[in-house]
Amino acid sequence: METLVIGGAGYIGSHVVRALLDAGHRVTVYDNLSSGKEENLFGDATFVRGDILDKVALSACLSEGFGVVVHLAALKAAGESMDLPGKYAENNIAGTINILNAMTNHKVKRLVFSSSAAVYGDPVYQPIDEEHPTEPVNFYGFTKLEIERILAWYDRLKGLRYAALRYFNAAGYDPEGRITGLERNPANLLPVIMEVACGLRDTLRIFGNDYETRDGTGVRDYIHVSDLATAHVQALDYIDRADASLTVNLGSESGVSVAEMLETAREITGRPIPAEIVARRPGDPAELVSTARKAGEILGWRPTSSDVKTLVATSWRIYRRLISP
Ligand code: UDP
Repeated sequence: METLVIGGAGYIGSHVVRALLDAGHRVTVYDNLSSGKEENLFGDATFVRGDILDKVALSACLSEGFGVVVHLAALKAAGESMDLPGKYAENNIAGTINILNAMTNHKVKRLVFSSSAAVYGDPVYQPIDEEHPTEPVNFYGFTKLEIERILAWYDRLKGLRYAALRYFNAAGYDPEGRITGLERNPANLLPVIMEVACGLRDTLRIFGNDYETRDGTGVRDYIHVSDLATAHVQALDYIDRADASLTVNLGSESGVSVAEMLETAREITGRPIPAEIVARRPGDPAELVSTARKAGEILGWRPTSSDVKTLVATSWRIYRRLISP
């Protein structure tokens, strides 16, 4: 099947492209390379450089006859989304509407969409299932929730079948080391720890150690990016086979604290990784852990690489090249 991956040069997108190619799909990547990397592109996928705000280019690309679209092109910095809601509304919401309309015009009726655990907002109970209330606490989460609602209407009105995949905390790198693009100025925990380990930053700032968690630091559900990628391939098969849409969590179902991640990184890298405790980051809940039972039942999805050691080791394999190429 010919698959179009929009945002396929990014961190998660490139892992999804690799998984699709490995599963025998023919893949075209559409990406504006604003945060995606040329080095994340594979010779066995076709590349089209384009923006999702460019309706003409999108329509020209969609006219090539794809069976399915995987859409991962989005802005994702929750903090920035609170300062620049217009930018997030335009790129994430309007950009997705452009994709949906181009798909409709060219009769492409299958979509796998990157949603986020940010649609839930502050947890009311744990672990978080798909029935948990959706009350985003940042504008980024709001954009993802709005798109999910629009998808439900396109399903009803236009026969679109979609999978909305609510990612928890993506981390790690392709265990075979085939993906090497590093994010510039990362804000997420594991890449920040890796940058400290490489000496690109002086210290890890731990945002609070007075949470009601086992060691006082924030607990998150980290899911290996290759496990996420596998779920995309399975979701795409499912919506095709079942002719049905679905919305599912993708998480590891286990919580890891900031202190535990740091300790594991010190062990695996053998480097000191200095850290200091600073104030809590506004908007951070103490703990966020998923249940991914639904993805297991419906897709047969089982994470295999999301233990904390594999997350750290697969990241270190890529980051360590910065110090000894
Ligand atoms: N965190 C931290 N220092 C950092 C980055 C993150 O202590 O430099 C903590 C953050 O407070 C949270 C966890 O690490 O408890 C994961 O944060 P991240 O930004 O990676 O993802 P989020 O859960 O906010 O989407």
